[in-house]
Amino acid sequence: MTVPHALQRLAAPNPESLAAPPTAQTILAPDGALLEAWDADHVWHAFTQMQEYEPLLIERGEGATLIDTAGNRYLDGSASMWCNVHGHRHPRLDAAAIAQLGRVAHTTNLGLSNPTTVHFAKRLVEVAPLGLDKVFFSDDGSTAIEAALKMAFQFWRQCDPPQPERSTFVAIGEAYHGDTLGAIGVGGVDRFTALFAPLTFSAIRIPSPGMRCLASTPQPSLASHLEHVENIFRQHAKTIAALIVEPIVQAAGGILVHPEGYLRGLRDLTHKYNILLIADEVAVGFGRTGTLFACEQESVTPDFLCLAKGLTAGYLPMAATLTTSRIWNAFLGSHSDRRAFFHGHTYGGNPLAAAVGLESLNIFRDEGVLAQLTEKIRRLQQRLRPLADLKHVGDVRQRGLIAGIELVANKSSGESYDWREQRGMRACHAARKHGAILRPLGDVVAIVPPLCMSPEEIDRLVAAAEAGIREATAEAATGVMGDRLAQTPTA
Ligand SMILES: *Cc1c(COP(=O)(O)O)cnc(C)c1O
Repeated sequence: MTVPHALQRLAAPNPESLAAPPTAQTILAPDGALLEAWDADHVWHAFTQMQEYEPLLIERGEGATLIDTAGNRYLDGSASMWCNVHGHRHPRLDAAAIAQLGRVAHTTNLGLSNPTTVHFAKRLVEVAPLGLDKVFFSDDGSTAIEAALKMAFQFWRQCDPPQPERSTFVAIGEAYHGDTLGAIGVGGVDRFTALFAPLTFSAIRIPSPGMRCLASTPQPSLASHLEHVENIFRQHAKTIAALIVEPIVQAAGGILVHPEGYLRGLRDLTHKYNILLIADEVAVGFGRTGTLFACEQESVTPDFLCLAKGLTAGYLPMAATLTTSRIWNAFLGSHSDRRAFFHGHTYGGNPLAAAVGLESLNIFRDEGVLAQLTEKIRRLQQRLRPLADLKHVGDVRQRGLIAGIELVANKSSGESYDWREQRGMRACHAARKHGAILRPLGDVVAIVPPLCMSPEEIDRLVAAAEAGIREATAEAATGVMGDRLAQTPTA
């Protein structure tokens, strides 16, 4: 039997002392080591090998800074998993949550409503691309996707005339749409999902046009990517229900940036072949790419717009699937027609989350958040530029306030590191010592600051990332040899 990892680090060498029930005093004021032990022993962390997990407990946040239980401060370089927008403990967001708590925290939206949620839906419609005037609330990015997939599927069964043979989805290679079964059916990051393939439906996949500069073979042109899509549409003209895409940047796939015109091209082709377009803006929505929504950059109104992460500025779990009157109308009828959308989540439309989401939109409006982004995006670009010259940096990709630094074993050949060496993870862990919390995507170090991060903080964040990268790439290969093509099961 192995001693739990966390226990080995405890000052008290006697593991039995921990088996005893905690006293009132340890609950009120447990020391850091005890909390870490409880964390490692009881909390099953997402996308984490618990046998190797090293606890780090964030106790407080202020603006773009996170503070651990020992009082160490870190810049929040992943925006607390790409969702923080205006910073932690923003006075207006805190006040909005508190004011809503004074009314009601939660009531159901199954056949019932709430003024705050109604206001929020109305405001979302006002800021979303024109034509998206129906809002279906759920609670996470994955559920926003599930709702869109099911709505699209049901739409074709209820439209006039019905086209029930339209039941296939087209998805982009290396796409990430969440971890529920429907979402992984259209996902393409195999290292996350291959195991579960037998449980999912299969989508038609088209290669990602995401540019990886280090690829030694020349990239297909935008026109040839779109031609490929059109061929697929032609071939399956009558059986495709919808195409799903992360507009402009595929985040979890490794910060893959699409060529300009790709999204517009997809919209034109989906119109031409009467295929629905689902835009997954869970990661890129709410200013991340420089505009409130990425779709705006190519003047696209999708049939479904999926929002989550930044929807409540990183405060509370909430998601929304926006759609058009055309879709909505196909679900109308008498209850006896059974045309309603039979889908819902217990916390859908939660008023507390809606209150914060609404105030976040007010902050966007009142504090010139988007106008200030231009300068920050340029600053990030300037600071990242020298990193491209590092010996083991194969590529630096950026769009808006989202960037990826790809680490490679050999810069001239573009050869990857053996994934088992976890260079990306090591770089991010090393950056902690330099005051930044970062999260890798394989060997890509992702830089995703809250939009509120100041230019000076961006400087410090990139400096910490660079220090982490230098440290993690200083040593030669650790002697792990074998199949370099195998995929890592960890993020
Ligand atoms: C994070 C993410 C999701 C899933 O959202 P969850 O809230 O984690 O379920 C879906 N799509 C994209 C593009 C994402 O980045």
